[in-house]
Amino acid sequence: MSLDSRGEKARVFFALWPDAANAARLHAIAQQWHRSLGGRVTREDTLHATLVFIGDIALDRLQSLLDLAEGIQTPSFDIDFDARGCWKHNHIAYLGMRQLPEALQNLHFELAARVGEAGFSIEKRPFSPHITLIRKAACDNAARDISINKNPAEPVTWMVRDFVLVKSSIGANGSRYEQIGRWPLLEDKPTS
Ligand code: ATP
Ligand code: MG
Repeated sequence: MSLDSRGEKARVFFALWPDAANAARLHAIAQQWHRSLGGRVTREDTLHATLVFIGDIALDRLQSLLDLAEGIQTPSFDIDFDARGCWKHNHIAYLGMRQLPEALQNLHFELAARVGEAGFSIEKRPFSPHITLIRKAACDNAARDISINKNPAEPVTWMVRDFVLVKSSIGANGSRYEQIGRWPLLEDKPTS
């Protein structure tokens, strides 16, 4: 595992990462939106939904994040990404969900609590899970095309079986992500 050779700090966040098939479906939607929204389509291999954003931390604190994630014991779940949106304030076109699954809320809450207990300062904004499909999107042009109410999205149903810790660094073409840990969620026991 290579962490950071240049500095003392790493920019990190916990996230949900799609498998290859879902990443391809999401990317296809992004390319379709791009025709009306313009902007910069998220690279297929970087599509994700942030679970808990931590930000810049000293490298020697990374181990405590790996340790706290180890203890997470929440069940796996499905997400329907069935809501399209474009935030005008930051020009981000995204897929979200109309209904936040309880298991996702719990996973977020559990992780955020542990991150806070470990002494990290965490984002105080309400949890708003989404996948950024396009940056610098012309949201104004597209209200009709991607309005959540007028044109509900065909859902991308995603089975969430694990979560990851990601290190983000600035690359030549925007942020570069490196997964530095992956933890499974609990599988449902078969019913008999
Ligand atoms: P770029 O900043 O180069 O456009 P990016 O936003 O994907 O790319 P980061 O800024 O490292 O890269 O953010 C990583 C992830 O964390 C992204 O999903 C981003 O939306 C989310 N994020 C960034 N800052 C915050 C924050 N203050 N609170 C919550 N989530 C955040
Ligand atoms: Mg950013």
